[in-house]
Amino acid sequence: MPYKVVIIGAGFAGLSAAKELSKYDEFNVVLIDRNNYHTFFPLLYQVAAAELESEEITSPLRGLMRRNRRCSVMMCDVKDIDCTSKILHTDGPDVRYDYLVLAMGSTTNYFGTPGAEQFAFPLKSLDDAVQLRSRILSCFEEASLYSDVHPTVYPNVSDDDKDDRFGKLTNIIIVGGGANGVEFAGALMELVRTSICKDFPEFNKGTVKITLLEAAPNLLSGFPAPLAQYTKERLEKMGVNVRLNAAVAEITPNGVILKDGTFLPSATVVWTAGVKSAPLAAATGFASGRAGRINVLPTLQVPEQPEIFVAGDLSLPEQAGKVPPLNIPPMVAPNAIQQGILTAKNLRRLVQKQKLLPFAYHDKGSMAVVGRGAAAVRVGKRTFTGSFAWLMWLAVHLTYLVGFRNRLMVMFNWAWGYFFAERSVRLIFRRWK
Ligand SMILES: Cc1cc2nc3c(=O)[nH]c(=O)nc-3n(C[C@H](O)[C@H](O)[C@H](O)COP(=O)(O)OP(=O)(O)OC[C@H]3O[C@@H](n4cnc5c(N)ncnc54)[C@H](O)[C@@H]3O)c2cc1C
Repeated sequence: MPYKVVIIGAGFAGLSAAKELSKYDEFNVVLIDRNNYHTFFPLLYQVAAAELESEEITSPLRGLMRRNRRCSVMMCDVKDIDCTSKILHTDGPDVRYDYLVLAMGSTTNYFGTPGAEQFAFPLKSLDDAVQLRSRILSCFEEASLYSDVHPTVYPNVSDDDKDDRFGKLTNIIIVGGGANGVEFAGALMELVRTSICKDFPEFNKGTVKITLLEAAPNLLSGFPAPLAQYTKERLEKMGVNVRLNAAVAEITPNGVILKDGTFLPSATVVWTAGVKSAPLAAATGFASGRAGRINVLPTLQVPEQPEIFVAGDLSLPEQAGKVPPLNIPPMVAPNAIQQGILTAKNLRRLVQKQKLLPFAYHDKGSMAVVGRGAAAVRVGKRTFTGSFAWLMWLAVHLTYLVGFRNRLMVMFNWAWGYFFAERSVRLIFRRWK
């Protein structure tokens, strides 16, 4: 009788584990996710910047797992885990397991910043990206009503008030100068300089202001210093206002207050400053470390529950016997994929009573794109910038993107944007906070 392995989360880690486990006769696999699709997060910011459509960076789970006969897919939200009875409580039926893989990923970390959760826009899910795009485009629509081109009348609004409102609506602030914030700032500025300036003749090149705030002295923490410097210069050349050593004290409905007291007005503050483990991780009660990631053995097992494995962003493995925070694997897709595959292999070794393998993160490098034709890339100790780095970035993302159709559509959209300097996905769906 095959063992029942339940995987919570169909992100990079869960999906890799499910595909690998489905090859083995010893298991029946149940892949659970609250969504019926897998999201390719590295291109999420392009949905928010009206460059790609949501469908192009997502794949339906049932389609992905169709050929894996030993794997079934369940769409539900796991609410609690009863480790003693080996039962999951979900928003639907309970689910039994023999072995469990926790791969729920991460969520936005606001670090307790007052007003951030309430007023800032996160960029951590497909919903977030679509909502953010709608918000930004709506602000431009509203701002255009304050310009002179329309015969609009606001009886109780002075000219100064009009200017203030216009300024607030056309100022976008991005908090967090990591890869996500940098890539979004560049993509947004390109949207503004191409389609938006054409769509709104009342806006000129400098009307929309994009500010990128970073609390540290450099962008792209973890990248070599020359790449961080290149990225900053490149963004500034594009017109992005990069402010380093700019720690945020509070976010209000009208903008951002910095720790030095400066107030920056904005109707749209985007939060890309950090992530922490998914909420269900805390509910398990397992010991956790930095960012709430669950402490696991080098084999990726929970020490007190060896039938439970943790993979991906959620997992904080001891490395070669050293206790974290030494050698912490980064919260990136390659780490999640490598852990997902090792989890599957170790599960098989466990049931075959063989020695389990320790996890060792294989660092493939890091990259960030900074607008059309420019990127900062590190591979091993070598660094690359400019158009060659950009081509590397394109190739890597197309290779890892799930689904042939998605690759074709994304390639087409990129080529369209490159040759015609135009974005096609400028739709507003009203649903923001
Ligand atoms: C905007 C953005 C850009 C990024 N860019 C890059 C990049 O360029 N390169 C890179 O390497 N990494 C990038 N990352 C990081 C990378 O996406 C993550 O490291 C990776 O997704 C982690 O994989 P995972 O499988 O652990 O979790 P995820 O991919 O987050 O998957 C977790 C899954 O679990 C599901 N889930 C969570 N809780 C529950 C529950 N209670 N019940 C049911 N289902 C649940 C979620 O719906 C989700 O599908 C980016 C992340 C973001 C957000």
